Formats: sequence, structure tokens, C-alpha cells
Amino acid sequence: MASPTLTIDLDKIEHNARTVTDLCARHGIEVAGVTKAVCGEPQVAMAMLRGGVAGIADSRLESIHRLAAAGVPGHRLLLRLPALSAVDEVVGSVDASLNSELSVLTALSDAARGRGRVHEVILMVDLGDLREGVWPDELVALARAVRDLPGIAIRGVGANLACLGGVVPDEANMNRLVELAEAVEAAIGERLRWISGLNSSGLALLASGRLPGGINHARIGEAILLGRETIHRNPWPGTFQDAFALHAEVLELKRKPSRPVGERSQDAFGHLPAFEDRGERDRALVGIGREDMDLEGLTPHDERLDIVGGTSGYLVVDVTEAAGEIRVGDTLGFTPNYSALVGAMTSGYVGKRLLARISHHRS
Ligand SMILES: *Cc1c(COP(=O)(O)O)cnc(C)c1O
Repeated sequence: MASPTLTIDLDKIEHNARTVTDLCARHGIEVAGVTKAVCGEPQVAMAMLRGGVAGIADSRLESIHRLAAAGVPGHRLLLRLPALSAVDEVVGSVDASLNSELSVLTALSDAARGRGRVHEVILMVDLGDLREGVWPDELVALARAVRDLPGIAIRGVGANLACLGGVVPDEANMNRLVELAEAVEAAIGERLRWISGLNSSGLALLASGRLPGGINHARIGEAILLGRETIHRNPWPGTFQDAFALHAEVLELKRKPSRPVGERSQDAFGHLPAFEDRGERDRALVGIGREDMDLEGLTPHDERLDIVGGTSGYLVVDVTEAAGEIRVGDTLGFTPNYSALVGAMTSGYVGKRLLARISHHRS
């Protein structure tokens, strides 16, 4: 294996999707499977669909195009707010999008009309996380204005938490979302199909039975891909945490002091890292570096290994506790967290290998 490789176990993703969608279904919640961390990889989307998600959501039009080109069926939702400059592409590529700007919604309506379509939207309200969405007291006015746009159908209202501000979904903010949705329904004189309250941060609230009734839509990525809820990043019961594995080759194996020798200044990336003196250690230079991907967020499969640091071409791993078992030319395995997964998926230097027990090739 010359270049680092990310292995993707599609059966584990399917299993995780089934665990999450079964839980959600018991509470009357429909799940959109979020593929943004895997750049809309069509086989991952197919695994999620086999596992029971109702549709696929992604934040990039490029990923949406990838799904469409591969013939991935089902409803497609754009998660990132559409750019005013891209409304025609949005209307042509997805069934629905999340929105908060009237000028964009007006342009989406015109674009949809131009194509003889109606574009579905979920109006986003900010419940305190301070990312996307109108402030709660502006939601009804926005909904009234959007109701009059002929190319737009309001399918729901939604909120996204635990992203920028790390705000935890709880009974109070979810109740607020349901109340706001009811106010919108009263204002536009229509029932909303979706009240979209949850992402992977909401699973614990859901499982506790304290999620207010009325919330009926979730957009779930990390819990399906990595098997974790995102409040404490605890493993989610009944899911695999190792659907993704990153492997890279050992290029050098030497016993060296644990502290640099000589007067020290900045490292290659402008930092002055601290090195604890642990005496002489066995160090492996592994063939994955910061030019390949951000090296934060990798955990060695072998608990005896310790990541010392990384440069543009190398990851340096202390292998002293496993010395004798590791040779030059071996590959070391790592579990990526969400940001490392994104880094590996978006990297042109990291190979991708899809694994499935049964072959799921499209005919
Ligand atoms: C990324 C994203 C999600 C999925 O979040 P996870 O924590 O991966 O479940 C849901 N909604 C929006 C708007 C997103 O951007």
C-alpha cells in the first residue's frame, strides 16, 4: 500500500442506519441520511437507504450531482443554505432545501417557475446555536411572505443545534420549535409535513422519551457514519464505531530520544510543540502527512500506539509498547473522528476502498 487508504464498510453503515431509523420510526420520526462527511459517496448513500433512511441530504451541490449521476434514488435535500448565485442549479438538482433568506427564496421561486417546478423548502429558525436561521420572532413573517411565492412549497420548519454554538437540544428548545411550527401553520393555513428538529445531537433526548411530540423529521449523519451521538461523542448503542478505517504504511522505524536535540525554534507549521522526556522510544514514521489531510482526530487501532505529531509528509507514532510486532512496510490502522473523516474523504491523496459483504453493484 503506497498511499494512505480509507476503507469504508458499507454493511456497517447500513446496520447503523437501520439502528437509527428504527429508533426514530418508533417515535414517528422520518430520517434524512446525511452524506456530507463522505462527499455524497453514492455507495454510502445506497447503504443508508437500505438501512431505512427516507432520503439523502448533503450540503454541497457537487455531492448532490454525484448522487444523481450514480442514479441514487429518493428524495434529495440540500442542507447548506442555497447561494443566491446558484438558485437555478439548486432547483434543478434537489427536491428541497433549507432556507432563511427571503431574497433567495424569491429567486428560487422564479427559477422553479422557469423550470415548471415547485421547489420544497424547510424554513430554518435559530434556536440559539447562532448558525443558520431567522430569529424566532421573524419566522411567521417569513412564512407569510414565502406562502405567496408561486414556485415554492413550504414543507416544514427546522432548526439546527449543537453545531456552531454547541447548544444542546432539550425539551424547552424543541417545544419552542413545535410552537413555532404551529404558529406558521396557523399563519399560512396549511399543515406542515415536517418539523425538522434533530441531528445526531438529538438522539439521547429522543431515546430518553423526553422529545416533545410533533418533531417528526431528523437529519442524521455522524450517528450513522461513526456510530456516535454528538453531545458527548459516546458510542450509540447498537451501532458500529469502526465503519471507517484509515491505513498507512510504516516507512521508517528507529529508536530515538523522545526530545529533539539542539536549540529549538518553530516546527514546519509555525508551532513550538512540547516534547515530554520519556527516554529513548521506538518511533515509526508513517506515510500520511498534513498534505494528505488534517492529522487531528486519528486514533490508532492498537491502543499501545501513541501519535507524537505530524509534518506535511509524515505521521510520527510512538510504537515502543508494541515494539517487535511492527516492521517497516507494515500498515497501521487508525479510526477517524468526524473531522478526520471529512479530511480523508476530501483529500485527493487518500485512496478510498469500499467494502461490502454482499456485492451491491448497480446493474
Ligand atoms: C451536517 C448537518 C446535519 C447532520 O449533522 P450530524 O451531526 O452529522 O448528524 C444536519 N443538519 C444540518 C443543517 C447539517 O448541516
